[in-house]
Amino acid sequence: MSDAIAEVPLEISKKIAGGDAMSDPMNILAPEHRRLRIGDAWRDAASGATFSVEDPATGKTIAEVADADVVDGLAALDAASKAMAQWAATPPRKRSELLTATYRALTERSEEVARLITLEMGKPLAEARAEVVYGAEFFRWFAEEAVRVEGRYSTAPAGGYRILTVPKPVGPCVFVTPWNFPLAMGARKIAPALAAGCTTITKPAAQTPLTMLFLARIMEEVGVPPGVVNVVTTKRAGEVVSALLADRRTRKLSFTGSTEVGRVLLRQAADNVLRTSMELGGNAALIVCADADLDVALDGAMVAKMRNVGESCIAANRIYVEEPVREEFTTRFAARMGALSVGHGLDDGVDVGALIDEASVAKIDELVADAVDRGARVLVGGERPDGPGHFYPPTVLVDVPEDARILETEIFGPVAPIIPFTSDDEVMAKANDTEHGLVGYVFTRDLQRALRFTEGLETGMLGINRGLISDPSAPFGGVKQSGIGREGSHEGILEYLDLTYAAIDLP
Ligand code: NAP
Repeated sequence: MSDAIAEVPLEISKKIAGGDAMSDPMNILAPEHRRLRIGDAWRDAASGATFSVEDPATGKTIAEVADADVVDGLAALDAASKAMAQWAATPPRKRSELLTATYRALTERSEEVARLITLEMGKPLAEARAEVVYGAEFFRWFAEEAVRVEGRYSTAPAGGYRILTVPKPVGPCVFVTPWNFPLAMGARKIAPALAAGCTTITKPAAQTPLTMLFLARIMEEVGVPPGVVNVVTTKRAGEVVSALLADRRTRKLSFTGSTEVGRVLLRQAADNVLRTSMELGGNAALIVCADADLDVALDGAMVAKMRNVGESCIAANRIYVEEPVREEFTTRFAARMGALSVGHGLDDGVDVGALIDEASVAKIDELVADAVDRGARVLVGGERPDGPGHFYPPTVLVDVPEDARILETEIFGPVAPIIPFTSDDEVMAKANDTEHGLVGYVFTRDLQRALRFTEGLETGMLGINRGLISDPSAPFGGVKQSGIGREGSHEGILEYLDLTYAAIDLP
């Protein structure tokens, strides 16, 4: 490692948002809507239990919400099952209009929604605003898809009869979503399901249930019929979701979260042979070739690493840089990381908000310590600040040995290990040496090289000279243990449609 790559001092300006009542993001979700949305009602848990939601930037409780148990979960399934036939029979144009109305309502209230997301999840407000745009776009996109569901009619090759395919909604769907995109991860499922004519039960992450409750409130206000969108908040994910998956009325599970929990749910879904969509963990390699436009590569690496405070399944987990540009890229990247300001996401000028919880900070701290113990050097960051709140500074590691745990673990935070490479075969083998296969990033001006990486990298998605790939009109999803199925695009609605094939005699 050349000494030219110097350590960069990091200024942490950890500020805590003031308590201006007028700007309290909780104002948009009235206490009566901090409850379960089941059928046409907002109700308390049958047991009367509640749990607390915290602001991760302060550790303070911001709300109490209903803590559902199995009885409540099954009541939501009753409502979803009861509403199913009528919703499936609702004209696609009408379903489409309700999705468009949801898109408009979210867009009109985007600032309030963004502030709620930041409050419960910690990301900076600018990122929360971007999430609202992204999440709302799924409703617009699937409003357009709802009226384009088509079957086929053809002559059997041997003649004598006709082949007709009729798409039909799968049936009541169970959705389990993570905390990192409290709006978008639910929107990615609810919008296509409704477009296809399915009813839904969403169990949001216990750490970020408020945004999903607010979405349910918006969908009630725009006129989505009772029972079509049910939301069950709970601290007892295991028992509630198991009961839902064990009930034969459930016909589909869509899960976004860790590969570990995904495996558990796939096993449970097997008993009822459920349709499943799995959006699981990642371990993305970001590859900077020597012929890349370094300005583009730096911008791309910053977005791919730091979007959502690094708490993204498509975050760049390992940054591979070809030897001739290693020094320049590393120096410039470390300077950009060191210039980011850390603080409460609701404060102006903050680039890096709080992480979700103490366990997350502790895990990241351990991964950095393990890498350093094995010989890595910290160029920027690397030391967690004192509380309150769950913060970790933007961190750049170099000289990271191959056996460091950070290279095989999903970091889910603002830490970037940089690893040099000297040949495409070498970096391809390293990039593919993981159970995950969600996304990769390649920066090169050489078209043939880009195509070789596109063919050789074992990922469901690839960013070429781009660090941002999420788009409601594109099929998001992974291969290997990163997932099954796609969200967004035309493929997204197919996840919610079954086919009936009819052979029609016509001599
Ligand atoms: P997680 O721990 O797997 O939790 C995800 C959801 O599953 C939460 O709602 C959680 O509820 C629930 N859950 C946990 N254990 C369960 C069980 N035994 N039965 C039923 N449900 C259960 O993941 P996370 O920490 O929230 O999210 C981070 C992970 O999500 C990362 O691995 C990330 O890569 C992945 N992710 C993937 C994508 C993608 O599109 N591929 C997108 C975003 C995130 P509780 O909140 O109550 O624990």
